[in-house]
Amino acid sequence: MKFLYETHLHTCQGSACGRSPGREYPQLFKDLGYDGIFVTDHFFQGNCAAPRSGEWVNRVDAYMAGYRDAKEAGERIGFDVFFGIEQNYHGDEYLLYGIDREFLLMNPDIESWSRQTLFDNVHAYGGCVVQAHPFRERGYITKMHFQLDGIDAAEAVNIGNHPWEDASALKYISYLGLPRTCGSDIHSALNAVPEKLAAVALDEKLTTSKDYAAYIRAKKPISLLFPPERLICERPGMPYTPYEIGTGDSLTEAFDLSLSIGLEQA
Ligand SMILES: [Zn+2]
Ligand SMILES: [Zn+2]
Repeated sequence: MKFLYETHLHTCQGSACGRSPGREYPQLFKDLGYDGIFVTDHFFQGNCAAPRSGEWVNRVDAYMAGYRDAKEAGERIGFDVFFGIEQNYHGDEYLLYGIDREFLLMNPDIESWSRQTLFDNVHAYGGCVVQAHPFRERGYITKMHFQLDGIDAAEAVNIGNHPWEDASALKYISYLGLPRTCGSDIHSALNAVPEKLAAVALDEKLTTSKDYAAYIRAKKPISLLFPPERLICERPGMPYTPYEIGTGDSLTEAFDLSLSIGLEQA
């Protein structure tokens, strides 16, 4: 039995680029057969919707409004909603799981932390760090930073990426020997449709966000589910294909095609 989770989701309450309030997501994902979602709004160094000044507790609660909203909606229908964070350093972004409001409240200096300090403190708290969409090329990213130390996994498939960016990410993650995750990076409830989603399928049902952190840190199996057309990764106009999916390399096992097709038909 597999348990399906959305690991990368934004609300308009926590993320300035979010389009939907947290409350709109749980029913949609429940109907698609998911077991839960993680709300990972952009934190203060990224495209955060919460105020960047004022009392820390008020800022934290404003930042977490989308998560709370989603969690309340989930509780009404028996659907799990977990907390996560997407933190931004100069364009490179990290998904944090296994942390919570208490972690934020006891660390009012978190905005001044280096990457390594953040990773160390998240780990000490029982959380984990997943580098989000390495190899993404966007106007807001002025350089690529590849974190070699302190991350527990990296995102191999992100629906906000072009497929060829994912292909490069897969090759890189394989080189590092890290677990792979995937996520939709969904910003609007209108995109909660199978052809725009990427889910992780786990062997265990999660009870808390810390369970997911422990699962990743223990390197337990993670199947990646995403629309099959993302396997086509030739980059238009470029003389190379960064990675050819399906050439018999061990990476291909990450792409569980039967599950992927199953999700598409859900
Ligand atoms: Zn965003
Ligand atoms: Zn994101």
